[in-house]
Amino acid sequence: MARSRARPDLLLLHAPSVYDFRKHAILYGPVSDMVPSSTVFEMYPLGFLTIASYLHAQGMEVRIVNLALRMMNSRRFDVPAFIARQRPRAVGIDLHWLPHAHGALEVARIVKEQHPDVPVIMGGLSSSYFHRELITYPQVDFVMRGDSTEPPLHQLLVALRDGTSLEGIPNLTWKKAGEVRVNPHTYVPTTLDYVDIRPDLVVEMMARYRDLQSTLPFNGWWRNPIAAVFTVKGCAYECVTCGSSHSTCMHLTKRQRPVFRSPSNLVANVEAFARLTKGPIALIGDLRQAGPEHTSEVLERLRSAGVRNEIIIELFSVPPLEYLREIDRSVPHWSIEFSPESHDQAVRDAQEGEADYTTEAMEEMLREALRLRCERLDVFFMIGLPAQTLESVRRTVDYCEHLFQLGDKRLSCFISPMGPFIDPGSRGFEEPERFGYRLFARTLEEHRRLLVQPTWEHILNYETLWMTRRELVDATYEAAARLNELKVRYGRIPPRRGRRVAAGIAAASALRARLEAGLAQGGDPRADAALRGEISRYSMSTVCDKRELFWRRRLSQFRLAEVMRIMGRYLTRRPHR
Ligand code: SF4
Repeated sequence: MARSRARPDLLLLHAPSVYDFRKHAILYGPVSDMVPSSTVFEMYPLGFLTIASYLHAQGMEVRIVNLALRMMNSRRFDVPAFIARQRPRAVGIDLHWLPHAHGALEVARIVKEQHPDVPVIMGGLSSSYFHRELITYPQVDFVMRGDSTEPPLHQLLVALRDGTSLEGIPNLTWKKAGEVRVNPHTYVPTTLDYVDIRPDLVVEMMARYRDLQSTLPFNGWWRNPIAAVFTVKGCAYECVTCGSSHSTCMHLTKRQRPVFRSPSNLVANVEAFARLTKGPIALIGDLRQAGPEHTSEVLERLRSAGVRNEIIIELFSVPPLEYLREIDRSVPHWSIEFSPESHDQAVRDAQEGEADYTTEAMEEMLREALRLRCERLDVFFMIGLPAQTLESVRRTVDYCEHLFQLGDKRLSCFISPMGPFIDPGSRGFEEPERFGYRLFARTLEEHRRLLVQPTWEHILNYETLWMTRRELVDATYEAAARLNELKVRYGRIPPRRGRRVAAGIAAASALRARLEAGLAQGGDPRADAALRGEISRYSMSTVCDKRELFWRRRLSQFRLAEVMRIMGRYLTRRPHR
């Protein structure tokens, strides 16, 4: 069937965390400092790309528009006017990460206002958890549940187009004559090879809609094009606050065990990215969960493929040292991301199920990685864990100094608060008392309201038996300031950058004190225009400089010949579409 450029079968919209963040004055704090996106949470989920690839293979056209990024890049970008100009057959909006509870619902409302007859479909893990509540919002027509919704979504789009019954579509929550219907959650694929992330489709989408900005995953991606290749859905681990942990998946996505991509499919995807970009490629998920044979085959295929991009390996626990040696033999450029969360064995043990290694074993692993060709070793710590006190956080920063004293600048440490929310469905959310959490929100609507509180102290959906929300914020600023000093002292960041980060932390901390004082007096301190300006200035990256998270830049990040080839393929095919 011929499709016009202006009429996609599905328009996928990614909303900012809070709509319209350009008008609200909220001190978000460092809640997004450890991820590539900003406090607007402009990065869209990988599911957008797998949905686009799957539907494309079925002959449908999909357009991705990162509204959050468009709004960040231009204060004048008019969301209702933009949406009014679109002619989609259906609109999909992600509510995957709960911090989008405000923005996603508001964008859905605008879509309904502009296009009352166009179906609005929501999906993602948070949508799945809150599906019964989400479907009651008038602007939401359908909720797709689960972590793999491409085929059921295709069935839904076909049924809507043909006017056929929706009763048999798996994983679908919907409304019939005002009554909520919950179809059984039966689509849980046992392989991930049926779908892919096709980077060439993204390039084609840019050409088709003459829009370079809308499909970019996060602010600054052009300069730091990190590619992500997912390796697994579900997880074998049990981190207390994670919405993808083993127990959470059993209930939420009905996944009894993690499911993996085959090594050939995974490495083919790495090669597809490597043809397009010279930047790093992150393998999302710990490969070792699939067993040693699987891991060895992936590494052997990477070796045979001769990929020169830096491969970022995630480790969920401490592997045998031989694993690092195997990586080193297979991949010329590699780095490691490791998140022990606390240096303190007792704190790790309090998560009941996550920690399966000792601090000594962890250090041995770090030393071995540094002995090998590992080009970068990022170690992440967290504030807001069960059994973690302010004193324990201080000792974590001492421990970072201990790691810096290994004397290798490839190793760096990061610390950030867990937040803003404990994931719904996680063990911490479902059994807060057991893990020493106190929750301030349970429903979707309560979380939506939390997101527009004036400061991140009031946005956090939890505190612990060991630290109140106020103490969590205090501990964060204190730890961040000390870690920043250490990074300067041990040469991890240049002194000038360190001074800038220190000034940012001090200013954000002082601003927060002024806001809290104003709130304590019963007023809304945001009424003060000068204060509003300061809030937006210090609401972005605060506890570290975002550039620390990014990789070394190259003169040209992309393989232009391949980009041109894809553009050419689109242009020569276009008249027939
Ligand atoms: S945070 Fe823990 S439970 Fe969640 S995906 Fe990572 S390792 Fe698995």
